[in-house]
Amino acid sequence: MNGSKDFKDPVLAKKLSAAIAAVVGDAPFSIMEVCGGQTHTIYKYRLREMLPPNLRLVSGPGCPVCVTPIDYIDKAVFLALEKGATIYTFGDLMRVPGTTLSLEQAQAEGADVQPVYSPLQALAAAREFPGRQAVFLGIGFETTLPGIGLLIKQAQEADLGNLSVLLSAKRVPPVLEALLAGGQARIDGFVTPGHVTAIIGTKAYDALCENYHVPMVVGGFEPLDLLGAIHLLSKEMVAGGQGNRNAYSRVVSHAGNRKAQALLEAVFEVKDDALRGLGVIPRAGYAIREAYGRYDAERRFEIATRSCEPDGCICGEILCGVKAPADCPLFGTVCTPGSPVGSCMVSNEGACNAAFLFD
Ligand code: SF4
Repeated sequence: MNGSKDFKDPVLAKKLSAAIAAVVGDAPFSIMEVCGGQTHTIYKYRLREMLPPNLRLVSGPGCPVCVTPIDYIDKAVFLALEKGATIYTFGDLMRVPGTTLSLEQAQAEGADVQPVYSPLQALAAAREFPGRQAVFLGIGFETTLPGIGLLIKQAQEADLGNLSVLLSAKRVPPVLEALLAGGQARIDGFVTPGHVTAIIGTKAYDALCENYHVPMVVGGFEPLDLLGAIHLLSKEMVAGGQGNRNAYSRVVSHAGNRKAQALLEAVFEVKDDALRGLGVIPRAGYAIREAYGRYDAERRFEIATRSCEPDGCICGEILCGVKAPADCPLFGTVCTPGSPVGSCMVSNEGACNAAFLFD
């Protein structure tokens, strides 16, 4: 049924596939899956082959590494090489090309760059090496932000003077609003991201559905989760609805995680922010509040960098749903996972990476 992997329940997958085809008929629809993890699953399990050709899936801007601006990488490299800070980062970010160097290349030139699995590892390291400045690279959407907030709170409680966070944290709803308002890509419905929505709740999309008359369904990351979400969304689209539905209720609620929301509110404030390829979007990012300003790497260090995007990379258009990876002339030739040119080829949540590995 699919070209590469078996489903846990192939009979249910077949039923959902047939049900989606029956619902949409011949009508053309375009669905954006927002999350990079969902994109990965769609390519890996060849879900497009299970859908009618008139139902188009386009990848969205929900891969954290992909939307992190190139100047962020340049700042991290600067802090490591010029300020002698030890950089603690999630591994995905290591290979993202900066204007001159990636963090991996900076490491080869002597920078101290340590991959971690949790922000709290940076806290432990800062305690262990009080003579060194530790900088945690805090990127991501609302999913990862509570962990970063906790790191900052705990650093303040411990009165640590040698730890800071270089923050590039984004908010999903304003980014979706920018895509809808911009209108570059046809989007008839969204499969919204499961983990982000577990934090912010489906309530975060109520106004978008109403104001832009577009349906949204939150979906998980397993292939059956996604087929279920696409089925529910198809029904909404065919009916001309603007429902904000939940196909991932084992994890997501309407209210979201109130404790995590309170933590975000305490440590961060909303700001206009740039996403790679998408430009500055109103209210799309977070800044560290003044009360925790001591832990903001941008306040602690004077950072001087000059950045420019790699020639020929069309990550921005891919993240908007306007183009697909195969439209990029560098795809699979100059740009591969072993030698990435843009950020969308680095992380396994990036559309170019997933298309290279599974298409
Ligand atoms: Fe950018 Fe490479 Fe994707 Fe082209 S294939 S858009 S260069 S990441």
